[in-house]
Amino acid sequence: TAEILEQIKETIAEKKVELIHLQFVDMEGILKNITVTVEQLDDIAAGKQMFDGSSITGFAPIDKSDLYLQPDLNTFAVIPWTIEENYAEARFLCSVMNPDGTLYEGDTRNVLQKTVARAEEKGYSICIGPELEFFLFKADEYGNPTAELADHAGYFEPSPKDLGERVRLEIYRALKAMGFTIEASHHEVGIGQHEINFKYADALTAADLATTFKWVVKTVASQFGLYATFMPKPIFGICGSGMHVNMSFFKDGENAFYDPADGLQLSSTAYQFIAGLMENVKNMAAVTNPLVNSYKRLVPGYEAPCYIAWSASNRSTLIRIPAKKGMATRVELRCPDPSANPYLTFAIIAEAGLNGIEKGLQPCDPINEDIFHMTNEQRAERGIENLPESLEQSVQLFEQGTIGQETLGEHVFSEYVKVKKAEWESYRTMVHSWELGNYKNKF
Ligand code: GLN
Ligand code: MG
Ligand code: MG
Ligand code: MG
Repeated sequence: TAEILEQIKETIAEKKVELIHLQFVDMEGILKNITVTVEQLDDIAAGKQMFDGSSITGFAPIDKSDLYLQPDLNTFAVIPWTIEENYAEARFLCSVMNPDGTLYEGDTRNVLQKTVARAEEKGYSICIGPELEFFLFKADEYGNPTAELADHAGYFEPSPKDLGERVRLEIYRALKAMGFTIEASHHEVGIGQHEINFKYADALTAADLATTFKWVVKTVASQFGLYATFMPKPIFGICGSGMHVNMSFFKDGENAFYDPADGLQLSSTAYQFIAGLMENVKNMAAVTNPLVNSYKRLVPGYEAPCYIAWSASNRSTLIRIPAKKGMATRVELRCPDPSANPYLTFAIIAEAGLNGIEKGLQPCDPINEDIFHMTNEQRAERGIENLPESLEQSVQLFEQGTIGQETLGEHVFSEYVKVKKAEWESYRTMVHSWELGNYKNKF
């Protein structure tokens, strides 16, 4: 730690950093920050920065609101767009701590750290590569998104049609400067829709990267007069945005999902992991697909899953086994969307998989036909169930299942259910434009 801190101090001197943002996330994964001056570095590194947690979604009640921020020194980064000749700003991502120095139970970053520790007890380290998709809209003079998309290009289309390509280049540069290893970047299927992929990492780092990614994309887009949204289904009738989660477990430096002797080159651990996901996926949808709008994405026809099945060959399924094998063997879960809190999402997926491994569950057979072209009867015959179709349903299943409570812990679980029920109630009682359009002139 002392060594990392020395390196940080060197960078700070070299780049002339004056301000440091202490970042953390609320229960929904929304980035928050407190800004301090560089003179306070030693104190903040020692976890002495206090704040009032009573107004943060999902955090402490008024009577227990004094909380502390413990910066994770590995997350230090100079913020590229603040750099001037004699000035710069930097940031740390932080864990939230209780006054007694223990991990605060309401912090979702801590929830993931607990899952990582539980996996380690079983000998596993968790590797995660998330793929976040997003839309770029033109912003108005106040920086709010308009209804107009930034470009009219389609899947994999290059410049000059793809105005988004310029923005993607600048996003790439900013991410790289902040320590990301970028693997690919392309225009997605939807007009105005993009995807930029970064290299997989351990679970906590991957969640930190996903959180940072959304912030960087939004910030750079705004510099181009654009608005980047990670809302799962911003436009009816075209593709939504997913956050596919690729996950593998490593044991003793080897990929525990790989077995060259198996037909699909998957180990029994991998099959148990898949079975764990299949068994728990309905009960964790409130986390992986947290918004009313998330369920407008999970409909047939847009490469988003809506049935519970797995396959090695078929892209339409909920769980896919990408062709890369050996050390790169992994399981891809395709239901999560980028509005999900990455800390909770990665934690609950890993716990579901661990569950399958601990219980020695076996998955049903893979489905290699196109599920979307089966009739309801054909799906029923093969035991293929639907994913939840609304936030209301998924919150009910979240409460009924055990995976939510086990993963999130009592505090976050009950706060989460409370917030999501209120969100559904607000939606349920609102009069929407669909109703006005269909009823007002007719009745
Ligand atoms: N946009 C699709 C989704 O909602 C995924 C498209 C793709 O990457 N193949 O998940
Ligand atoms: Mg992708
Ligand atoms: Mg994609
Ligand atoms: Mg994918």
